[in-house]
Amino acid sequence: MTGFTGGRVDRADHLRLDPVAIAALAAHPDARMMRLSGLLPGTDGTAISWIKPDRPADGLIFLGLDQGRPLFVPIADDGPPAPLPDAMALAARLSGEETALWGGARSLIVWHARHGFCPNCGQPTHPFRGGWGRRCGGCNAEHYPRVDPVVIMLAEHGGAVLIARQPRFPAGRYSALAGFVEPGESIEEAVARELREEAALPVTHIRYVASQPWPFPHSLMIACIAQASTRDVTLDGAELEDSMWVDRAGVAAALAGRSDAPFIAPPRIAIAHTLLRHWLAGGDGLA
Ligand SMILES: [Zn+2]
Repeated sequence: MTGFTGGRVDRADHLRLDPVAIAALAAHPDARMMRLSGLLPGTDGTAISWIKPDRPADGLIFLGLDQGRPLFVPIADDGPPAPLPDAMALAARLSGEETALWGGARSLIVWHARHGFCPNCGQPTHPFRGGWGRRCGGCNAEHYPRVDPVVIMLAEHGGAVLIARQPRFPAGRYSALAGFVEPGESIEEAVARELREEAALPVTHIRYVASQPWPFPHSLMIACIAQASTRDVTLDGAELEDSMWVDRAGVAAALAGRSDAPFIAPPRIAIAHTLLRHWLAGGDGLA
């Protein structure tokens, strides 16, 4: 299963607009609050640690009901973000369900920390809807947690796909190209634009494969495969330092972690890994 997906908590949206019900849930003896250190959850090694809520409901985000048990996360404990490798290492130890729960909580905490003032009038905002929104005390505008769509894609040509690396990647790591969807674009248009901008590569037949919430801080990764008409690539050197076309044998070797693979695959928790696995399995339908 793709990382940060698979949460089975009932989000119980119908309760969010009832502050009396949320307060009662927070005070319930079965209620639990995610134990946080900065933005990382406390764990017992493989599972998130939970404690009783230590503050009133207006300082909490209601995550939902886990088989009837109310789950919360504190709004205020945003703290300094842990380096991404630490977060990735921790996420890799958790079950998919737990990464989904933590990922959603992390995105919400960061959103609250960055939206203390109204973008409409500049006055302070306050949480409402069980922590799933903020309302301005000045102009009464309501603000909701944002999700930033990002396209991530493989261009395919004659049984090979294009992968590339950014300078910040670990040595040997290559991944799918990616970029934010811009206002006024469809997903397909964003895929075509990113491949044109980053690799000067024209593509057609853009197909959706899968999606993944990516809580750094609140993206939605939308994985696609596109058909390239050439293997001629000109990289935008500002974002990418190298690229390669890799065939199925190369992708299979990388996903298997073999030392003779032409590149090191993205980690299993990233949707780029899912995307490569999907392509290898022939899930794109175009040769
Ligand atoms: Zn306002």
